Amino acid sequence: MLTKRVKRLNESMTLAITTLARELKDSGKDILSFSAGEPDFDTPEVIKEEAIIALKKGFTKYTAVAGIPELLQAIATKLKRDNALVYKPSHIITSNGAKHSLFNLIQVLIEQGDEVIIPAPYWVTYPELVRYSGGIPVPVETNDESGFKITSKQLKDAITPRTKLLILTTPSNPTGSLYSKDELEEIAEVLKGSDIFVCSDEMYEKLIYNKEFVSVASINDDMFKRTITVNGLSKSVAMTGWRFGYLATPNEELINAMKKLQSQSASNINSITQHAAIAGLDGRADKDIEFMRKEFQKRRDLAVKLINEIDGLSVIIPDGAFYLFINIKNISSNSMKFSQELLSKKGVAVIPGIGFGSEGYIRFSFATDEKSIIEGIKRIKEFVS
Ligand code: PMP
Ligand code: GLU
Repeated sequence: MLTKRVKRLNESMTLAITTLARELKDSGKDILSFSAGEPDFDTPEVIKEEAIIALKKGFTKYTAVAGIPELLQAIATKLKRDNALVYKPSHIITSNGAKHSLFNLIQVLIEQGDEVIIPAPYWVTYPELVRYSGGIPVPVETNDESGFKITSKQLKDAITPRTKLLILTTPSNPTGSLYSKDELEEIAEVLKGSDIFVCSDEMYEKLIYNKEFVSVASINDDMFKRTITVNGLSKSVAMTGWRFGYLATPNEELINAMKKLQSQSASNINSITQHAAIAGLDGRADKDIEFMRKEFQKRRDLAVKLINEIDGLSVIIPDGAFYLFINIKNISSNSMKFSQELLSKKGVAVIPGIGFGSEGYIRFSFATDEKSIIEGIKRIKEFVS
């Protein structure tokens, strides 16, 4: 009955485990969840107020598929101010979360047999979207010794005549690793002269600790032309439930194809969300963003210290995002079994590394309060010993 393409698709492991942990907790079990890639903060007041105003003014109707002009302009201004990227508003589309932006992109770009290079560990969704469109995910292994970043040599070796796209996530989910300008320049050098596109997923751009964020597309004009910049507000201003993401590319053929696809699937995104999102982009929420970033940094430092005190576990300090990708290789070579037993015996939910394409690790999200982090890591320590 079902199509071959949907049979190729696996459910999102991050969402599945997060939902399971929530259900166990709701049923009265003592569960501490470090599975969700979701800030525990509330959406800033200034954004909520914009939503209320929009609702009261009656902005409750269909809009243009890509988004209202004020919003597209706010995104263009943000990309220029924060990322030194000059896009026209017509080169931007808003979608129901960055996940939906990525879905649109892969659907219009990846054909049967096209190869997509994905540095591993990767966010769970990328290979699934590629397989769904008939493409072939080509994972390139990295590990904690290389800071979970691919080298230009690894990239060169992975390229074949069928390579269509490289997906780069900086800072990374699940490792928090951040590519420096020099590293991005080396990647740009490898791609020069090819017709390979780059998808730059910059979802965690605002969550950086003592380092500088560089947008892939800002490296040079050649990179600007071949890059599709993807971002959203789920992580930076805690808007996961509002469903807001966007992408930008100067490639008119590509952007128009995505507009066409979205016009026949989701149409525009929620009209209230569009008005509220402007306040998350134009600087009015900057103080809230900085408050949350500092809190995450404190939690990161605490969690890294506590994990590295446990015999048999180790973790490198992430430069961005809110995840620790913990090496469990001295304890277990089966991250799925490790995670299942940790949940059933100690009530601690984490995501097995295998879901991100890297066995021998678990992902621990520190987007939760300090008290839970301390208690959760205490339970992990008891479990490990
Ligand atoms: N990219 C990365 C790297 C992510 O971790 C996420 C997590 N949700 C997304 C994209 C999608 O986010 P959203 O759909 O909520 O905008
Ligand atoms: N991206 C988040 C995570 O990795 C949210 C879940 C999802 O969208 O997969 O946990």
